[in-house]
Amino acid sequence: MNAIQIDLNTLLVVTIANITALAIVSPAVMGWKISVAARSAQLSLFFYAISWIPMILSNLWPGTLADRFLSTISVGGFAASNWMLFKAMSHWLGPRRFERTVKLLIYLIPVGYCILFDDYSIRVGWANFLLAIQMFLLAFACLRPAKSVHGDWRMVVAFGMCAMAILTLGRGLLGAFTDSYPSFLTPHPWNVIAMFMTSLLPLMVNYALLGGWHEEAEIAMHDQAITDAMTGLYNRRGWVEIGQPLVANANRQNDSMALLMFDIDYFKKINDTHGHDAGDTALQALGGLLLAHRRENDVAARVGGEEFCLLLPGCTLDSAIQIEKHLREQLLPLATRLGFPVNFSCGLAMRQPGETLERIMRRADTAMYKAKECGRGRLEIAP
Ligand code: GH3
Ligand code: MG
Ligand code: MG
Repeated sequence: MNAIQIDLNTLLVVTIANITALAIVSPAVMGWKISVAARSAQLSLFFYAISWIPMILSNLWPGTLADRFLSTISVGGFAASNWMLFKAMSHWLGPRRFERTVKLLIYLIPVGYCILFDDYSIRVGWANFLLAIQMFLLAFACLRPAKSVHGDWRMVVAFGMCAMAILTLGRGLLGAFTDSYPSFLTPHPWNVIAMFMTSLLPLMVNYALLGGWHEEAEIAMHDQAITDAMTGLYNRRGWVEIGQPLVANANRQNDSMALLMFDIDYFKKINDTHGHDAGDTALQALGGLLLAHRRENDVAARVGGEEFCLLLPGCTLDSAIQIEKHLREQLLPLATRLGFPVNFSCGLAMRQPGETLERIMRRADTAMYKAKECGRGRLEIAP
């Protein structure tokens, strides 16, 4: 290390300046209206930055009550920083294992450190060992359980955390079992490498923050692209995207599957007589009804202006007839509240072996038009 003249003090100052800059710049760029996950990742950077301040100040009054107090705050801050990043991960990637352990360590680390403060080797061993555990759990949380939709940004955090955990563990071992690590500014090679990693880690976390944030935006945009804004149901694009694999699956398993196609009767007349807004309210009423009554795997969509579809995996002919009847009954009181009659014609088609979604829809559509021809306000079943 002497050959390249690394001065730990300068490295520390530059590192803190970098982390602080990241912690300030990221909310300035991303704005204040961000998700819990992005906010937690920002807070993680922020805690990481400010936790160094009491650590440095504590060096001014070694061995005093002030030292004990400031150092305790500092290790608590590092633990909180790890927890915040863990929280970000569980919001982005779904519930993670060991969440309670990581959270418990926010309290356990500083409290133990404060109590054990008078013995340097024990307190350094304690804090570094437990912080390393937190970091290992954080690295693990980035990897498992794996979900294919999430990008490689989490690998960056996993790698960074794992490296930092190993270095922190080493610091703990040096502090606890040797005399070669009397302070966090000791120019021990291990400490220099750890300080390098301390300056790199926030860059990695920041990369993850941007990755997770970008992915959030992508998911939100995709959700918007497949949702009908007026009713909250899937639109035609969403209907095909979600419905097609369900039909393919039903074909593979040879499961029964029903498709109901609804078309509001005399809808033009509702618009003409009561106004376009009243028409919209009627669409929302039927949409809300379909949304409220669908089961977990059912797909409800607004596939056209006043045309709706319901895909019912695992549903038999009799059940589909019952569902249609139930929906029609439920629409009656809603229409009374709207102040004008709303009814629909419906076509029902059961999946035939090897049929595509499009093909089932076409048969349901034909049945629906037959219902129109036969007087409207009724169900017709496709042959
Ligand atoms: P039928 O009983 O044969 O189904 O007659 P209909 O009047 O319901 O059928 P048609 O398909 O001729 O008319 C559908 C109307 O739906 C035409 C269009 O103006 C209206 N429409 C389409 N989208 C919207 C919408 O988002 N809001 C409102 N208020 N009306 C819409
Ligand atoms: Mg129509
Ligand atoms: Mg109509």
